[in-house]
Amino acid sequence: MRCLQCCREKKIQVNPYEIARLAGNLGISTTEFIARYTLEQGAYLKFNDNGICVFLDHKGCGVHKDRPLVCRLYPIGRQVNEMGDEWFLELQPEAACNGRYGRTATIEDFLEDQGATAYMLAADGYLTLLWEMMEIMDCMSAKMEIRDAADVSVEKENALVEYAEWMDMDAAVRKYCQENKIIFPDKVEDKMHVHIDALRLWINQP
Ligand code: SF4
Repeated sequence: MRCLQCCREKKIQVNPYEIARLAGNLGISTTEFIARYTLEQGAYLKFNDNGICVFLDHKGCGVHKDRPLVCRLYPIGRQVNEMGDEWFLELQPEAACNGRYGRTATIEDFLEDQGATAYMLAADGYLTLLWEMMEIMDCMSAKMEIRDAADVSVEKENALVEYAEWMDMDAAVRKYCQENKIIFPDKVEDKMHVHIDALRLWINQP
């Protein structure tokens, strides 16, 4: 029986692929989706004053077909390390949760049932980029330490604005396609591959 407890009191973190899927579900651009339905410029889904996800209605999840990975996997958690090793864990269910862990099926069965594969590939693609970005940011911080504090804070602010623009898949891919005379892809998976290429180019720019 569905209790929908997992759609309350949670910060649902989303990556650009998940945003693109949700935006596609609603027939809007990722730019509009980020402005209307997310917090921290696309980092999390909005929730109301009672802590309920913006997409939960009286029938359940209003975007079920395109729900984020974490919603697909719950009550299982997935972790991946820098070497690409992955493992799964049982999360502690909510106190009022009606869900029960079964013991007869495998994790593979569960992932297939939840349509999780495309989401996990996307998560891994963006996670790899994030690690690359963190390495570059460590080098940048080291360089910044020997510079004037006011200059550094302006630079950091500009970098954050630029980062938010780049995380908006439709806007970033459109810009990249125009600059490189590439046709704007229709399918979200194709768009994601172009997006990851564009992001990698951006974070590695001198
Ligand atoms: S996206 Fe759907 S499944 Fe995920 S928390 Fe929101 S309402 Fe629940």
